[in-house]
Amino acid sequence: MRVLFCGVGEAFDDAQPNTCLLVEAFSDGARREVLLDCGFTAPYSYWRHGPSLDAAPDGPDIVWLSHFHGDHFLGFPALAARLTQSGRTRDLHVAGRQGVGMAVCRALDLAYPNLRENLGFALKFDECLPGEPLEMSGLSFSGAFTTHPEPCLALRLEDEAASLYYSGDGAPSAECLALAWGTGLLVQEAYSIAPGSPGHGSVEETVQLARMASPGALALVHLERRLRADSLPEVMAALDGAGYLPEPGHIHDVRP
Ligand SMILES: [Zn+2]
Ligand SMILES: [Zn+2]
Repeated sequence: MRVLFCGVGEAFDDAQPNTCLLVEAFSDGARREVLLDCGFTAPYSYWRHGPSLDAAPDGPDIVWLSHFHGDHFLGFPALAARLTQSGRTRDLHVAGRQGVGMAVCRALDLAYPNLRENLGFALKFDECLPGEPLEMSGLSFSGAFTTHPEPCLALRLEDEAASLYYSGDGAPSAECLALAWGTGLLVQEAYSIAPGSPGHGSVEETVQLARMASPGALALVHLERRLRADSLPEVMAALDGAGYLPEPGHIHDVRP
């Protein structure tokens, strides 16, 4: 399993694209591509950086949407339109929490009213319920709710060799800790240094989570924009060597 960090930013960061990861995973030796979140500015960084992971020209096999805030799913209409332009004909699976199909269809219809009937491919919606792993293309998707006000599913994704945890938005719940345990890569939203930003994670909580979950590696994303721009020494001090801050374009090999 390999992960390309397409974007690592929060919702309104002018310097960093919205957080978005492209995962290369394997099932019975077959290569799969899973895009994790697709916010306002995510498709552009996916198109820019995708070739470095040999991303398929007709797009990923599966798109996972952690929740329905704009910086996590409102780039989907642009992605779908360009996939049609690029000649995609194979089905596109879109997975997320209950209601993912309605949320995505409303976004598509608002952005481009005639797009849905002119897509060159079928959208297949897959709802993930907490505690009930979903199997898609030979990969396992398990979800647990974080503490975010708009219900957000953290994800544990497993392929034939490795696993990763991706928080979406929000500090980890007890169920998230169980989900993250022993993964090869833990990717957590950390908006502030200390806990206290309503509905968001922090560097300090993330370090605690990693101490308990013992992942192979820890990456922090979605830092508040002024924090990332102006206070990196303080962030790194709080992180205390427990993990790192990926830049857009960074590729992480996930160890089993
Ligand atoms: Zn967000
Ligand atoms: Zn959010």
